[in-house]
Amino acid sequence: MKTPATALLLVNQRAYKMPVHPTVVVCVDGCEPDYLAQAVAAGRMPWLKHTLAQGVALRADCALPSFTNPNNLSIVTGVPPSVHGISGNYFLEHTGGQAVMMNDPRWLRCPTLLAEAARAGLSVAVVTAKDKLRTLLGHGLRGICFSAECADAATLETHGIDAVLELVGRPMPSVYSADLSEFVFAAGVRLMETRRPDLMYLSTTDYVQHKHAPGTPQANDFYAMLDGYMAQLEALGCVIALTADHGMHGKTKMDGTPQVIYLSDWLRDFLQRDDFRVILPITDPYVVHHGALGSFATVYLPQDVSADGLCEALQKLQGIESALPRAQAARLLELPSDRIGDVVVLGDRFTALGTTAAEHDLSGLDVPLRSHGGRGEQTVPLIVNRPAPRLDRNHHWRNFDVFDLALNYAQ
Ligand SMILES: [Zn+2]
Repeated sequence: MKTPATALLLVNQRAYKMPVHPTVVVCVDGCEPDYLAQAVAAGRMPWLKHTLAQGVALRADCALPSFTNPNNLSIVTGVPPSVHGISGNYFLEHTGGQAVMMNDPRWLRCPTLLAEAARAGLSVAVVTAKDKLRTLLGHGLRGICFSAECADAATLETHGIDAVLELVGRPMPSVYSADLSEFVFAAGVRLMETRRPDLMYLSTTDYVQHKHAPGTPQANDFYAMLDGYMAQLEALGCVIALTADHGMHGKTKMDGTPQVIYLSDWLRDFLQRDDFRVILPITDPYVVHHGALGSFATVYLPQDVSADGLCEALQKLQGIESALPRAQAARLLELPSDRIGDVVVLGDRFTALGTTAAEHDLSGLDVPLRSHGGRGEQTVPLIVNRPAPRLDRNHHWRNFDVFDLALNYAQ
């Protein structure tokens, strides 16, 4: 370590102690806590079983919307989207404007803990499954940062590392496969063996979780795979803190078909006009496994339509968990008010939200729809492989407390 262990790292109004041991924070995409329970009960996660008994085993709330990018950014900044600004994959710059992708770091409103740790002299490595997260997670970071998806494109100059395939010793994974996440773990182990970074962040993809429910053979195989890599990192002397960006639930009717409220269709009927915009911030270039259907939507209204009246009507629909006007949504859900619409709509545990039935291509769904985005998918695991006796287990823990837990309580 180049920095004395007593120094504090101050990032976004939070203080972190410098790591004494190499510290690995793992974000398991879409890890509904029941995945772990089922796999442990099936005897497939011996490392986790031991860790739950000996270390810290908490449940925490993720940030809303319970989507991948807002939560990965919350985890690496330690603050909710109201502070870091990434509230989804898309937002409208203004009504009537184009939907803008928020993959670009220019939308990030604060530094990441990873970049600040590197600035303070720590060696930092980041491996993400999908490349869409890499530029955000690696913003301002002087260290290693690459994606499994584009592992063969990593260069020393842009990613802090090259020859990744040789290092990991695995072929390039397909973007729609469990391999993509396995590559992340395998790379993490190899980095720890060869370079021993002080701080490492590993972030997987929820391809398996979108398709397979907890306890299914495919899900248990995935978690058994994860368990094996965690055991290897533990054997290398790492403090490991594991959480998730969001949970995952079936969003289906009892006949197995998708349970969807198509908001644009409904609004057109209700308002008798069509000069509004529904934005689904889950939309991204990889939608095959969920058809761009999640449980969070935001609506931009023309000035003469009352958000309060609309919320009242939406709230009465079966399947709507809540519908909130902008100011209330920003306050209650910790969202950046300038990057949401006039109304924020949350689907319940069983219900996804769409625009119009015609706009969603569900032909790629070969299994009943599983998705996320609302409060129903807010509960995630928060696990550390070391005991932390000083910890208040009744505190309202968030997934973006994971670095606090790892660095301030578990070294
Ligand atoms: Zn995710």
